[in-house]
Amino acid sequence: MPTTITKQPTKISTKVKFSQKKIKINKPYKLASKKNDEHTVLDVKGLLIGGKEIVIMAGPCSIESEKQLMSIAIAAKEAGATVLRGGAYKPRTGPYDFQGLGLEGLKLLQKASRATGLRTITEVMDPRQVEEIEQYADIFQIGARNMQNYALLREIGQTRHPVLLKRGMHATYKEFLLAAEYILSGGNPNVLLCERGIRTHISELRFTLDLNAVPYLKKESHLPVIVDPSHGTGRRDLVRPMSRAAIAAGADGLLIECHTNPDKSFSDADQAITIETLKKLIREINTITGAIGRTVAFI
Ligand code: PEP
Ligand code: MN
Repeated sequence: MPTTITKQPTKISTKVKFSQKKIKINKPYKLASKKNDEHTVLDVKGLLIGGKEIVIMAGPCSIESEKQLMSIAIAAKEAGATVLRGGAYKPRTGPYDFQGLGLEGLKLLQKASRATGLRTITEVMDPRQVEEIEQYADIFQIGARNMQNYALLREIGQTRHPVLLKRGMHATYKEFLLAAEYILSGGNPNVLLCERGIRTHISELRFTLDLNAVPYLKKESHLPVIVDPSHGTGRRDLVRPMSRAAIAAGADGLLIECHTNPDKSFSDADQAITIETLKKLIREINTITGAIGRTVAFI
């Protein structure tokens, strides 16, 4: 008797198991894909990213000087940011453009972090920079131009350091998730996805911020999704409205370029917002999070 009772459910569950297995095999990004309802929460020195709290990452495009970075860090923290951004190694279109302060910039970033308690994020462009940057910053940023730099993805995969991977300006969602898969398959589970705008026929703006990506990636992957409305629009007057839209669409955080003197920025001046605007923006995000059952992280 007990054998007949157990036989039937076994048969049914085998069927279910088979169909689940089939779905898994069909996803080329096995580790990045979402299974059931899981979502990953990254712990960056006690700051949680991907949970209920929205994380605001803000700072200049480039680290320019101690005075510049320190004043922005203090003001951004006061405005409500929890992560300080700032490029020390810059991927510039032209070789004669400001390329960043390099190691000196990394040291300033660490100094600003120690003074304010802000976590930090900075771009890594080359596998040879990984070891150095890991010592000075809390989160690696892989830029849009390097999303398919496989040597870099593999090198970052060998660390266990948090990394924000930006979507390439021509990349499909599948290519984006496969790039994340390179890092995950190396053994580094600490990956953030970042939508930063794509190239379209819209020539009036620098890029087109693809907010479809937010709910799509949240459904398809368990990884947190961050939105960069600065590069996504290229215009400072569009950063606030698109930040609001990104959070309403389900983003877990924002990466924003701001400056105490935006017009004097060494790079990306057109899209740098003032600290006043950053303050306003975070206040508005606070209102939106109330409607979607979330809050803004603060330190
Ligand atoms: C940046 O964040 O300053 C940057 C260069 O970003 P992206 O790779 O998105 O162009
Ligand atoms: Mn920039």
